[in-house]
Amino acid sequence: MLKFTPILLALLYALAMYRFSVWRTTRELDARSTELADPRLKPVFDRLARALDLPRVRVHLYEIDPVNGLAAPDGRIFITRGFFRKFQTGEVSAEEMASVIAHELGHVALGHARRRMIDFSGQNALRTALAMILSRFLPGIGVWIANGITSLLAARLSRGDEYEADEYAAALLTKAGIGTEPQKSLFRKLEALTSGAGGAMPAWLMSHPRTEDRIAAIEKLEDRWQRALR
Ligand SMILES: [Zn+2]
Repeated sequence: MLKFTPILLALLYALAMYRFSVWRTTRELDARSTELADPRLKPVFDRLARALDLPRVRVHLYEIDPVNGLAAPDGRIFITRGFFRKFQTGEVSAEEMASVIAHELGHVALGHARRRMIDFSGQNALRTALAMILSRFLPGIGVWIANGITSLLAARLSRGDEYEADEYAAALLTKAGIGTEPQKSLFRKLEALTSGAGGAMPAWLMSHPRTEDRIAAIEKLEDRWQRALR
């Protein structure tokens, strides 16, 4: 029993860190967000709601500058002030904003939001726990291996999630009569939009698949749907 105590402790530590990350993120979002009520966005958000058979789609505005959209572990959808500003200046259209919301709705519907917490805030906890376990058997290089495994796992998980959320968004946008064009045009703009912000690349973008790959995946999907209709 004593032999397994360090492993058990490491697992308990990871669980506690995960819980703490969820709590901290939720609290941060509560403190720095308000409901987004924009009369020019309401019509497109309502189209998404109708396609989902929901009375309305609720979106929150998160007061930070980096251009981003996110789905919280509790299922709420957020876009950042920075992103909303791009809409206000006309750089991003209402339909393109809807495509971001559709993508985030996909993360919620597919149950990614909880797992993504591990990708971001909880990643260090996983890394530490793995390092503690591996160092028992492989002194010295255990930490190094733990780092590698954690990074690989996180990148794989989040890339897979992105394609799935894109696919969900493409279907939802098509059903809502908005179509996939805004989704693709936004991808083309995204790189330019995010790179301008002081040169600092947001963490979520680093784990995202390449823009051309995401567009190609949507086009493949459309091909498949076209063939199914014929
Ligand atoms: Zn995403």
